[in-house]
Order: sequence, then structure tokens, then C-alpha cells
Amino acid sequence: MTTKEKDLQYIMHTYGRYDVALQRGKGVIAYDEDGKRYIDVSSGIGVNSLGYCDEGWVKAVSEQAATIQHMSNYFYSKQASDLAEKLCTLTGLSKACFGNSGAEANECAIKVARKYSFDKYGKGRSQIVTLKNSFHGRTVTTLSATGQDVFHNYFFPFTEGFAFAEANDFEALKNAVTDNTCAMMFEVIQGEGGVNILDKDYVRELERFCRERDILLIVDEVQTGIGRTGKLFAYEHYGIKPDLVTVAKGIGGGLPIGLCLCADKLKDVMSPSTHGTTFGANPVVCAGANYVLDTITQPGFLDAVEEKGAYLEEKLLELPKVKGVRRMGLMVGIEIDGDAHEAAAKCIANGLLIITAKDLLRMLPPLIITKAEIDEAISMLRASLKIHSCP
Ligand SMILES: *Cc1c(COP(=O)(O)O)cnc(C)c1O
Repeated sequence: MTTKEKDLQYIMHTYGRYDVALQRGKGVIAYDEDGKRYIDVSSGIGVNSLGYCDEGWVKAVSEQAATIQHMSNYFYSKQASDLAEKLCTLTGLSKACFGNSGAEANECAIKVARKYSFDKYGKGRSQIVTLKNSFHGRTVTTLSATGQDVFHNYFFPFTEGFAFAEANDFEALKNAVTDNTCAMMFEVIQGEGGVNILDKDYVRELERFCRERDILLIVDEVQTGIGRTGKLFAYEHYGIKPDLVTVAKGIGGGLPIGLCLCADKLKDVMSPSTHGTTFGANPVVCAGANYVLDTITQPGFLDAVEEKGAYLEEKLLELPKVKGVRRMGLMVGIEIDGDAHEAAAKCIANGLLIITAKDLLRMLPPLIITKAEIDEAISMLRASLKIHSCP
């Protein structure tokens, strides 16, 4: 049986896959099982932030695997505490809690927010307001938190206590908040929702409004974090101070990790046995994450992300089929003339691994992509969109 045949027979069909079986990669280049070469501007949805098989990352991970590959959370771990220290020092936040995915990071933030409110105000003040078009994960609770009706099917009963407000509409936010609201959770750039960049004024007004009411600000940086937008976290572009920040995708550099970071006033909310996960804080995963973080915080690295993003945007706007670009750093949504899903399939068949977000094409290239590689990606996209227009 081929890989595809086995997959179709033995793996639950939760993804509509493209007809490609990737086998190996280096930098922004991947190869499939037939040896066909691809340029990857999707990074496995923003995960391979340093590209495929970065040498230093491979060394950090394999050395850690050969030293101690796992210990339970009943013991101290140098890799995990180093990583938590770095993140707290870089952000001014106070403590981290470890998990294994973006959804888990958000679950943790939701639990911390609700427990903070329970401890301080008692039962009932547990509502969390999120934004329409948001995406927060696939567990039953994070589906509830996700502000898109398509995610609220089949799996009833969903977790209670979420309300949704239209993004960039302060009145809508005021209408959604009640006396029982304990937190507001949002992405400053909605990734899955179509690369929607929130307005600065709206976000600042939202922060002020929430502060006055002791409503916690949870910023979901699962897709936007760890250098993706040209800053360590995208909220830095807005000048706000979140109470909880969730991190996943890009930080592991390819291994599964989720983190919830909290501000000083929340640092003692969680006590032993209120939260946990067997695999969380795994030393191999944390060794990779430490390497990613050390790399992207080198002087000049994040400036280069913005510079390359601006270059990519300029080149994209020269393409006849491109109607507009929504971008911050190397997080890029491309409005095109025509169907984005068909265009993505054409690109992939032509050797450009690209993704979509709603009716846009989306690029989340590895942060180490070069201008020459951007040029190559652009010419592949140009060719694919041309074919796309005349079937
Ligand atoms: C991908 C994503 C998630 C979910 O992360 P998983 O690792 O798939 O659980 C949550 N929030 C945002 C903003 C994401 O982009």
C-alpha cells in the first residue's frame, strides 16, 4: 500500500489532504516521497519557524533526547525552567504553565481566568467574551470559545459561558460584557479567520474598558507569537499589557508544545493539582524551544522578519491576480481574484506549499526565508495563478 492508501484506510478523515506525502526537508525546501522539490511558505502552519531541520535545533533536540527524554512533572527540569525564565524575562510576565498544543494553552488560560475570578468574587463570574471569526482550538471548550458558528455543531453539549462580539466594534464589546464577565480572549491578528488585523484604537480602548472592570485580557498568540509578526509577540505592536498570553505553534520549531504565560497578579492562582498534563514541559521539546527562542532573539533577527515581510508584500502586490495583502511581519493573507482553495491546490501541484485562511491565500513562511527564496516563491505563485485563471 502507498502512504496515501494506508492513510485513507487507517486514519480518521479529519483533514482534506492534498495529494502530497512529504518525506524530508531542509530550510524552506521540502521533498516528497517521489523526490519532488517544494518551496514551503506555510511552515506546517507556522510551526517550523526556523525551517526544516535547522542544524542547531536538531543538535539541541537530539542531544537532549540522548540525555534525558522525559521526566514527570513531579521533578524539576532545567530545560523547562530555562524556557519559562527566558519567556518571563522577555515579556515582563511572571509565570508559565506548560502544555502540548495551542488548544491546551488556551484551556489553561481559561482555567486561570475563571479561578482568579472565583477566588476573588465567588461563583458565577465566569463568562468569557471572545471575538467573531476567532479561532481558539478544537477541544470542546476551545471550540465553544471560537466565534464561528461552523465550529458549534455535533459535539453538544458545549462548555457554557462564552459570548461573542464583532471585532473592531467597541459598542459590540460593551454589549457582550456583563457583570459576570471575567475575561476577554482574542487574537490581535485572526489567523484562521482570514488574517484580520485588529485596529490599534479598538484594542487600546478594549484594554482600558477591561482594566476598569477587572476583566482579564487573554491574548491568543498561538499563531502570531514568537517572531511571526516581527516582534516577539504581536500584542507588542499594540502597546497593551495582557494578563494571560498563550503560545504554541512557532515556539517548538516543529515539536508539540503549548504555554500559558501570566502576569504578576495571577502568578499564584493555580495551586498543586488544579492543572497538569503528563507530557507538558517535556525536556526534548523544551530544548528545541529554547533553541528557537535564543535564535529569534539574536540582534537583528526580528527586524529582518519585518523587512522580508515588507519585501514579500511588495512583490505580491505586483502580481496581476492579487487584489490586496493583509500582513504583519511574515504573517500574510493574500486576497486574490478567484477561488483561494483552487489556487492553493494549483500552487501545491506546482511545488509551492501554501495554505488558505477563509477566502484568502495565506503564507506563514519560515522566519529564516531569504529574499532569493521569496523571489522563487513569487514566481511559482505567479505561474500558478496564471494557470488558475485560464483552465
Ligand atoms: C492553531 C491555533 C490554535 C490551536 O492550536 P493547536 O495546537 O492546533 O491546538 C489556537 N489558537 C490559534 C490562534 C491558532 O492559530
